[in-house]
Amino acid sequence: MSAAGDGAARAGQDLPVLRHWIGGKAVPDLSGRRGDVFDPATGRVQARVPFADAVELDAAVQAAKAAFPAWAAWPALRRARCLFRLKQLIEQRADDLAAIITREHGKVLDDARGEVQRGLEVVEFACAAPQLLKGEYSDQVGSGVDSWSLRQPLGVAAGITPFNFPAMVPLWMAPLALACGNAFILKPSERDPGASMLLAELFAEAGVPEGVFSVVHGDAETVDALLAHPDIAAVSFVGSTPIARKIAETAMASGKRVQALGGAKNHLVVMPDAPIDRAADALVGSAFGAAGERCMAVSVAVAVGDEVADALIAALAPRVAALKIGPGDEPGVEMGPLVTAEHRSRVLGYVESGVAEGAELVVDGRGYSNERHPEGFFLGGCLFDGVTPAMRIYREEIFGPVLCVVRAASYAEALALVNRHAYGNGASIFTREGDCARDFAQRAQAGMVGVNVPIPVPMAFHSFGGWKQSLFGDHHVYGPEGVRFYTRLKTVTQRWFEGEREGADFHFPQLG
Ligand code: NAD
Repeated sequence: MSAAGDGAARAGQDLPVLRHWIGGKAVPDLSGRRGDVFDPATGRVQARVPFADAVELDAAVQAAKAAFPAWAAWPALRRARCLFRLKQLIEQRADDLAAIITREHGKVLDDARGEVQRGLEVVEFACAAPQLLKGEYSDQVGSGVDSWSLRQPLGVAAGITPFNFPAMVPLWMAPLALACGNAFILKPSERDPGASMLLAELFAEAGVPEGVFSVVHGDAETVDALLAHPDIAAVSFVGSTPIARKIAETAMASGKRVQALGGAKNHLVVMPDAPIDRAADALVGSAFGAAGERCMAVSVAVAVGDEVADALIAALAPRVAALKIGPGDEPGVEMGPLVTAEHRSRVLGYVESGVAEGAELVVDGRGYSNERHPEGFFLGGCLFDGVTPAMRIYREEIFGPVLCVVRAASYAEALALVNRHAYGNGASIFTREGDCARDFAQRAQAGMVGVNVPIPVPMAFHSFGGWKQSLFGDHHVYGPEGVRFYTRLKTVTQRWFEGEREGADFHFPQLG
């Protein structure tokens, strides 16, 4: 990203400039700082995205603060009706959203449509707001005393989201925050901010009042202003682990509620009895779908026993070599480009380090170049065998089309690998043995576990989140945990006077 200062000197200064969405409308930027939005398939800059400063952010917070009391006072059913309309509008515009995602992120269109669908499911869940917000009631907790608990909104909540799911991750957060009666400010990824603007239009068209949903574009400086703002009560973050940790620590220090989801290194254990072809299909789809830019991508296959490892490599290598790579909007393409040239260089750096540290690069995608778009940010699929836990390609998240195969001598060793890794987002096992699968589900140190399922992303009515370095904070996102995150509990104890006055009672109240 380049700052606005050099914008005038650049070719293509007439590029479209995104706007913020504040107070129910698109507003031009004022800060003077902007970045580039690329088309990863061609490598060309296609738009400029503004980076809000503290003043612009404050405008969104003030609009949210002003809108919050009335929105929170709406009956939950009325808020739910807005979300029903939002659901319909997203369904109608799903193809438009997917097209924007593919154009800015690079993933293939079907995958982009899938992302919209998974986001939509959270909207559907949030439509149950009246049911989700129902409290608990106990009558006659003491003589003539009743007690009930209710969940109330927090106020202004903010969401900071990553590039890899520019529609789904914002939809993990905003619909539920709104269903619970909060106002919400989204700071989307600056690398693919377009989908958030169409979502903002749809929230408005659905009848969400001005100020209740805002989009403020920006970079680290904008996020810092957001974290420092005293009127933001809660922050949901999804992104890389170093930033997640920073967000969690800063937000907590200033008394904000925070959930910060970080990076991942998801393992898939292939047991000797697993159907190798099915495991290989699952691994290829999961590791190379969206060019490996998924937090639930499997990036490590743990083969139990050399025989399994050899068979797995033999099944994987031709599949990886045959991946159909190209622009995400081209029919038949299975894997698009990486999001930016910078990210591509980073992933290439990991491949180099794997080779230097002695892993065997069975399929080398480094030489791939797209005929029509040689400037696109493409990288071919890479497959490593003989990866060991000491190597960087094993320890760190690569977030690209690189699959590492680690050989383990036994199930116990495979499980220990999963459990010793710093990340704990997802972990899967492929096996036909029920007791082994059950043991894995019980003992794997990860927030989301798959049994013969490579990407065990929970449905909207469960909750999504990892363990260890993959999540900071106490709450997972969406589902019941999302409702807890965006509300706080209040318990009311109530009596109505009758009979004679009893006078002061100096004991700690004892009911019953
Ligand atoms: P990122 O951490 O670079 O950026 C995420 C957000 O943080 C963006 O909005 C960005 O503008 C902001 N940001 C970046 N640097 C910042 C800084 N120094 N201070 C404050 N804010 C900053 O992540 P990304 O590259 O956009 O996304 C990929 C990462 O997200 C991967 O690590 C992936 O595993 C992770 N991810 C995790 C999940 C999950 O559910 N655990 C889901 C999706 C993505």
